[in-house]
Amino acid sequence: MTVRIRAYGLSDVGRVRSLNEDSFTIEPELGLYLVADGMGGHGHGDVASRLAVDAIRDSLRQGLDRGGWQAALGRLGGEGVEVDSRLLERALVQANERLLGAVERRPELAGMGTTVVALVGREGCAAVAHVGDSRAYRLRAGRLEPLTHDHTWVAEQVSAGNLSEDQARDHPFKSVVTRALGGDAEVTVEAVEIDLAAGDLYLLCSDGLTGMVSDERIHQRLASSRSLTSLCNGLVADALKAGGKDNITAVALAVE
Ligand code: CA
Repeated sequence: MTVRIRAYGLSDVGRVRSLNEDSFTIEPELGLYLVADGMGGHGHGDVASRLAVDAIRDSLRQGLDRGGWQAALGRLGGEGVEVDSRLLERALVQANERLLGAVERRPELAGMGTTVVALVGREGCAAVAHVGDSRAYRLRAGRLEPLTHDHTWVAEQVSAGNLSEDQARDHPFKSVVTRALGGDAEVTVEAVEIDLAAGDLYLLCSDGLTGMVSDERIHQRLASSRSLTSLCNGLVADALKAGGKDNITAVALAVE
């Protein structure tokens, strides 16, 4: 099945911070859609998220140039084009290396890091990869499905049964991520391969959105917005109305 992806993205500094350290990119020719949420003082989070965007784009472009999408054929035996998530995983690992290299050359950048959530999609297939607490959601047939699990201390405590969902919601350590690009030499990327169906809507976003706006509200917006522009505008407006305590980024994709 041939499907087409349309996308729109929006980022807002929020109401509290003076700098926007989130970055996003929409690259239709690569089929790449990505949100990165940088951290680190003195504006270095901004450097981190932009470095990650550039590194992932470069790595993916090189990977696809080497063998085209045929080289990215999945394990299902060549029926149509399958997106191999390993290509995207490798791009995130290389981005981690690029961040660590930048810190080595410029010690003043020490401590910078970034989350990433990325979707690479084409021809009815996609890979979604993430590190940290930026999220991907899908709306299909009216149902909202999370495609990522936060790599945060709080989410791990909930999984282990040490905290309830309610306790997690307002926990003081809510924003402590357990994985990021730019931290350790080894980074474990979580990736999944999914199918893309006409009518699907996807949302990639930073925690400045999900920390302020409930899944119920996100569901409502995805199900009722008349365009990708009004969807992103509405979500950002919701986060600002709720306090806008962090930078807010939303990238929305419609599969046609
Ligand atoms: Ca954030």
